[in-house]
Amino acid sequence: MNKKDKERFEKILLDKQKEDNLKLSELFHQSQTVVETGIAQDEGDKAESSYTKEFLLNLSDSERKQLKLIDEALRRIKECTYGKCQMCGKDVGMKRLGVVPWTPYCIHCQEKAEEESS
Ligand SMILES: [Zn+2]
Repeated sequence: MNKKDKERFEKILLDKQKEDNLKLSELFHQSQTVVETGIAQDEGDKAESSYTKEFLLNLSDSERKQLKLIDEALRRIKECTYGKCQMCGKDVGMKRLGVVPWTPYCIHCQEKAEEESS
């Protein structure tokens, strides 16, 4: 990976990081609002609002996980190990990085990791 590619991916990751942080604070506000308006509602609405809250929390959970991956990817750019699979050391591949620039694994290791966790 050349310097230009690295700079390009760094910019993509920084943009995504900003976007995720923004989304996360929005989700936080939304779940706060759901909690506050949940007080005066009847049972049916309460169930609804707790469902919505859970949904929002789950969403923010995945945003947080992604932010962590982005953090690590940005660190790898600085350490010049970006683009290498963290499991097998092979190139992740430009095509895959174009789709998921924060991924730490090549497609094979990713599939293996998913198989093991399911
Ligand atoms: Zn790999």
